[in-house]
Amino acid sequence: MSGRGFAPPGGDLNDQIAAAKRKLVFGEVAMALGLKGSSRTGWDCPACGGRGTVRERSDDQGARCAIHSCDKGFDVLDLVRVARGVGARAALAFLERVIAERAARGQPKAPGLFDMGISGGEADGQG
Ligand SMILES: [Zn+2]
Repeated sequence: MSGRGFAPPGGDLNDQIAAAKRKLVFGEVAMALGLKGSSRTGWDCPACGGRGTVRERSDDQGARCAIHSCDKGFDVLDLVRVARGVGARAALAFLERVIAERAARGQPKAPGLFDMGISGGEADGQG
């Protein structure tokens, strides 16, 4: 790994990230990462080792850790970066894989914002 994880100014990485984020909801990325939780109860926060939960907001795709000592804010890209310890480019590749795998299952659109991790019965194991 080289670089510091920052996108080059004027590059198209940010555009690619924005496009990927529009196709994803927080919960499906959390599930793809194997985080514990659900969209209703919150997901184990990868920034503080699950001491807090990350709760999605209904007005955008962001989320924030619930405990004040952490208070880490995430978008789906940040979630991958923190959970996997990777840079933006690798995190984008992860997001694009989530989108591709969902499309391969015949679900081109993101699931409902709060639909993830509820039933627990349909989770297909690690791909
Ligand atoms: Zn936290």
